[in-house]
Amino acid sequence: VLSPASFRGGRVTAPLDLVGIGIGPANLALAALADGVPALRAAFFEQRSEFRWHPGLMIEGTTLQVPFLADLVSLVEPTSPWSFLAFLKQRRRLFPFYFAERLRVDRAEYDTYCRWVSHQLSSCRFGHHVDTVAWDRAAGMFAVDYTTGTEDDRRCHARNIVLGIGTAPVVPEPLRHLVEDPWAPVLHSADYLAHRAPLRSSGDVTVVGSGQSGAEVFLDLLRSRPEGQEGLRWLARTPAFAPMEHSKLGLEQFTPDYMRYFFRLPETVRDRLLPAQWQLYKGISAETIADIHDELYRRSLEGCWPDVRLQPATEVVAADLVDGRVALDVAHVQQGGRARTLTDAVVLATGYAERPLDGLVDLPLARDRAGRPLVDADHRLVLDPPLAGSVFVQNAERHTHGVGAPDLGLIAWRAAVILNTVCDRAVYELPARTAFTTFGLEAGAYQPSPRTTTTSGGAP
Ligand SMILES: Cc1cc2nc3c(=O)[nH]c(=O)nc-3n(C[C@H](O)[C@H](O)[C@H](O)COP(=O)(O)OP(=O)(O)OC[C@H]3O[C@@H](n4cnc5c(N)ncnc54)[C@H](O)[C@@H]3O)c2cc1C
Repeated sequence: VLSPASFRGGRVTAPLDLVGIGIGPANLALAALADGVPALRAAFFEQRSEFRWHPGLMIEGTTLQVPFLADLVSLVEPTSPWSFLAFLKQRRRLFPFYFAERLRVDRAEYDTYCRWVSHQLSSCRFGHHVDTVAWDRAAGMFAVDYTTGTEDDRRCHARNIVLGIGTAPVVPEPLRHLVEDPWAPVLHSADYLAHRAPLRSSGDVTVVGSGQSGAEVFLDLLRSRPEGQEGLRWLARTPAFAPMEHSKLGLEQFTPDYMRYFFRLPETVRDRLLPAQWQLYKGISAETIADIHDELYRRSLEGCWPDVRLQPATEVVAADLVDGRVALDVAHVQQGGRARTLTDAVVLATGYAERPLDGLVDLPLARDRAGRPLVDADHRLVLDPPLAGSVFVQNAERHTHGVGAPDLGLIAWRAAVILNTVCDRAVYELPARTAFTTFGLEAGAYQPSPRTTTTSGGAP
């Protein structure tokens, strides 16, 4: 993607058509689809030293929640050299994969596959932390300032920016001071594996949060504890340990058709809809629920109940250290009562939130009524006043594009939409229809938008 003239001595010298910030799956999909596009000069900067996908939760045996076809490219271009099947071919593992009959591959394998792609794309630059993106009036382009840790601060210029900076762990306010205290045994599940050994040997552990991460951490700890002395507690604010929606028509809410429909809804309707759809992205996979129940059932065969407490509808309202233990004050969401629990360690599986753009992006962002950045149909931030270049977002537009924004099944599609917009032509042909369901009274088919630097509109 980058001609040798664009990189000199590791530095980006010539102005670029596209700079991607962050190399998670979203921007890696874009880098993979951009590879080989004639005359397109693109570079992608990632602060980590190499590709890593949620390393703190890479628990053995955990799988993707989507079929392997949701790799970086296949749902747009299955013949790409960067497909998951191309990876298996290169590793000479196609026959074992064929006999394994696995639609959902291990997370560890997905991580290895993405790293394999990232190693081969010359546009991917690791160990590059981007500090700011601003408009350089004199150059008529975006200026991207970044640090590499080895040399002076650096700057490059680009006509288009794609922010793929992902999400950051969310810590509930009552527990924040304990997570920030290096001596308190309270951590976010994003750091689980680094603390797994001490957690396994802790006397009593509490997991907070009823999503997939909470379930996986609870199961992993349960399997490691002696029968009858499990000493485990699992608290959740939700009314039940509920399964993730996984019906075939329900999943059509993760299609481009639904994304377009959601985008056209008024802001107030979108804001009402998103929390109501929590089971599409916050529930637990049916397999993990079954594995937990099987493990508990096996432990009860001799007639004793395992020493575990699974308690939904319970919120942690205050927390503190008491004699080296963690005191959790909990409130029951339905009964209204309160109780105090002492535990030896706490794992917060309390989710993630989009990383804020402020601080990184020094640009005139148009905002909606709630102060969130406006994003147009092609995933561009709306700038007011408009500039002669575009800033796209990947996975920062749930409020405008719906539950599909973080979903791996849509990353190839969204990357292709962005590429088509940047290149002002259909580099990748995208189907006009992707769901059997008709969302809304008039189906909104996909049409590549004409190139425009005045990003008018944004979701209404
Ligand atoms: C444990 C876990 C499992 C998941 N499993 C699934 C699944 O099975 N199916 C599914 O559909 N979704 C899944 N998701 C949701 C979603 O797909 C993932 O969160 C996915 O990683 C999102 O990709 P991303 O590229 O947007 O962000 P990320 O993967 O978070 O990558 C963002 C990258 O940007 C880098 N970065 C941030 N700021 C800067 C900066 N200033 N300069 C340089 N680099 C920067 C970060 O270091 C990071 O590497 C899962 C999420 C989690 C947490």
